[in-house]
Amino acid sequence: MDKKEARNYFLMPTLYGYMFFICHLSAHGAESKLFSTLFPSCVQDIEKQTNTVISQAHCQLLKICAIKQEHRTFENTAQVVDRVYGSVQRLSACLDLISSIYPDEKLCKNACQSLCKLNHFIVDELDNNKELYQVLKEYVSHHVALSSPQSFFLSELMSDFKKHGLDLPDDTRAKIRQTKKEICDLELMFAQNIDMDTPLLAFTQKELTGLDDDYLNRFKTDEGVFRMRLDAPTSLSIMQNCSVASTRKKCARALQNKAYPINMPVLQELLAKRASLATMLGFSDYAHYTLSSQMAESLPIVQAFINHMIESSSAKYDQEAALFAKGLPAGVKLTKDKKIASWDFEYVKNQYLKKQYAIDQDTISEYFESESTIQAILKVYQKALGLRFKCIVRSGLWHKSVKVLQVYEHHRCIGYLLLDLYPRKNKYASICEITASPRTKDHPLGVSVVIANFPEPTADKPALLKLTDVEAFFHECGHAMHALLGCTEYVQFSGTNVSMDFVELPSQMFEQWAYDKDVLKKIGRHYKTGETLSDHMIECIQNIKNIDFAHTIRRQCYLSLFDLELAGSNPGQDVHQTAQTLYQKIMTHTHIDSDGHPEASFGHLTSYGSKYYGYLWSLVYALDIFQQIQKNGLLRHGSAQRFKTKILSKGGSADPRILLHDFFGRDANAEALNEKLKCGILNEKFFK
Ligand SMILES: [Zn+2]
Repeated sequence: MDKKEARNYFLMPTLYGYMFFICHLSAHGAESKLFSTLFPSCVQDIEKQTNTVISQAHCQLLKICAIKQEHRTFENTAQVVDRVYGSVQRLSACLDLISSIYPDEKLCKNACQSLCKLNHFIVDELDNNKELYQVLKEYVSHHVALSSPQSFFLSELMSDFKKHGLDLPDDTRAKIRQTKKEICDLELMFAQNIDMDTPLLAFTQKELTGLDDDYLNRFKTDEGVFRMRLDAPTSLSIMQNCSVASTRKKCARALQNKAYPINMPVLQELLAKRASLATMLGFSDYAHYTLSSQMAESLPIVQAFINHMIESSSAKYDQEAALFAKGLPAGVKLTKDKKIASWDFEYVKNQYLKKQYAIDQDTISEYFESESTIQAILKVYQKALGLRFKCIVRSGLWHKSVKVLQVYEHHRCIGYLLLDLYPRKNKYASICEITASPRTKDHPLGVSVVIANFPEPTADKPALLKLTDVEAFFHECGHAMHALLGCTEYVQFSGTNVSMDFVELPSQMFEQWAYDKDVLKKIGRHYKTGETLSDHMIECIQNIKNIDFAHTIRRQCYLSLFDLELAGSNPGQDVHQTAQTLYQKIMTHTHIDSDGHPEASFGHLTSYGSKYYGYLWSLVYALDIFQQIQKNGLLRHGSAQRFKTKILSKGGSADPRILLHDFFGRDANAEALNEKLKCGILNEKFFK
C-alpha cells in the first residue's frame, strides 16, 4: 500500500483539453458531514467518532436482542445487524487510513489506539455475541418467508457466526475471544512496524553511477553525499539504473530488512496465536480454518492450483532466465550457483530493453507525465464504465495535495474518488486503495481513496510515471471502481466486500489495460513533444510485461506457498529458514540474499493471512475477462459495461462462481493465462 505538495493537475490544460471542471462547492451539507465524519482532523474528533460508533452500535445490538419474537422482522433485526457492521467497517477503514497516511504523528498514534479499541469491540460484541446469535438462530428457525437476497444474507451471516465459534462451550468461547483480540493487536503492531520503517541510505555520487544527475541532485546534502529515503519510486530507480552492483545489493538488503528484527517475534507470536485459534475452532491449522470460506474452498485445492501454476510456468520461466543469462550487461555476473542475484534482476531487465529496443524504463517514462497520464487513465475508466468524474475543491482533508473527484453515473453522484498520490514523510510507502465508505442502497455515496507514492518532478523535468506506476494506478482504480459501483442492499456485500480470492479480480483485469495498444496510444504522450507512443515503443512496453511474466507468476507462487506454510501445521517453524528454503525451491533462477529478511515486512501476511494465493487465483479469471472485453476494443463507450453490471455492481451479493458464469455465459477457464505462459519471448533473434 503509499506522498507531497499541492499540484493542480486537474486544472492543467492537457492534450485532451480540460477534462475536469473545478466546482467550488458551497459546503453542501450532506457532503461536508460525510467528509468530516470519515476524516476527522483532530485527536478529540477521532476519539469522539470512535466512542460514538461504539456506543451506538452497542445500543442497537441491545435493542435487537430485546425485540419480542412476535415483533421480530428481517428489517428490525438482520438489516440492523448489517448497519452496525457498516458503521464499524467505515470507522475501521478510516482509522486505518489515518494511521497509515496522516502527516500528524499524534493523529496516527491516536488512530491506532482507537482502531485497537474498535477491534476489541468487534470481537466482544459483534463477532462473538452469543445472545445476538441465538436471536438470529431463532428467527431463521421460524422459516419466515424471505426473499432470496435476504436468505443469502442470513445464511452468510449465520455461517460467519458459526465460524467464530458461537456453537462452542462458553469457556472455549472466552478463550477464543481473548486470542482473537491478541491476534488483532499483533496484526496491528506488525503493520505499524512496517509503516514506520522507511530506510534512509547515504551514497556517494560514484556509488550511484547510472542514475541521472538531475534526478540525483534532489538528494544531495551539504556534505556532498546523497541521502535517499527508499520509498517505492526511489528504490526502483536505483534497482533499474544503478550500474554499481554493491549499491543495488545495499539497497535491496535495506528494503528486505525493513521492520527487521522488530517484526520477527511479533510474527512468531502471531503464528502461534492463529494456530491456537484454529485448534479451538476445530481446525487442524489456520490455513484450513480460513480457506473454508473462500471461493477455492479448501487447502488441497489451493495447493494443487499453485503446484499446477509452477508446472505450467516452467518452460517459459527457464526460457526467460536463459535469455537474461545470455545477455548480461557489463559488470553483472551470475552467482556461483549460476543464478541471477535477486538485486541484479531489475537492472538486467532494464539493460536488456536498452539493448533490444534502444529504450529503457526512463525513456518510456517520458511518455507518462504524471498529471496528464492520470487524467487520461481516468478518462479511459469513465468511457469504459459510462461514468463522469468531476474535480471538486474540498478543504480540511489531511493534506493539501489530496484531489477529490465526484463520481457520476447517469447524472447522479454515486460517491467520491480521492487521490493521494505523492510521497511525504510518515506516509505508507507503497500503493493501495482504501474503501473509506462502502455504498449501499440506504447509504448511496461511496468513498474510495487511492494512495500512491508516484515520482515527483525534478528541477527540469515534470513528474514522470514509471510503467509500473501506470499499471499500479490502473490496478488500484480497479479496486476503487469495484468499491464505488458495488452498491448492494447490504453493506456486508458492498463493493470489495467479497472473498479474498475474488477481490483482486477487477484490479488485475484493469491492470491489463495498461498494455493495450489503443489505450497506450491514448494515455502516452511525450512530455516535451506531445508525440504519442510509436508502434515500436508499444511493442517494447508489451514485451516488458511479457519478458518476465513467468518469473512474476513464479514469485506469486512462492509468496502464496510461503504464506500458506506459515498458516500450516508448524507455527513454531523458523520463519526465515522457511522463506529461504521455499525461495530456493521455486525461484530456481534467482539467488536470494540470506541476510535479507523480507518476511518481516510482508504486510500481506497479516492483511491476507493465508489467502495471498488469491492474487493468482483471481488472475486466471481477470485474464479471461480481459480477453473478452479487449476483443471488441477497450476504448469503445461502455466497453466494460457488462463487467460493471455482472461483476462490479454485484459486490459480494452472490457466489462469485455464479457471477462469473453469468458474465461469460460459460464456465471461466485458464486459456488466456495459458496463452501468456506459452507465448515465446519475442526478439530472441537478437541473441543468436
Ligand atoms: Zn489489489
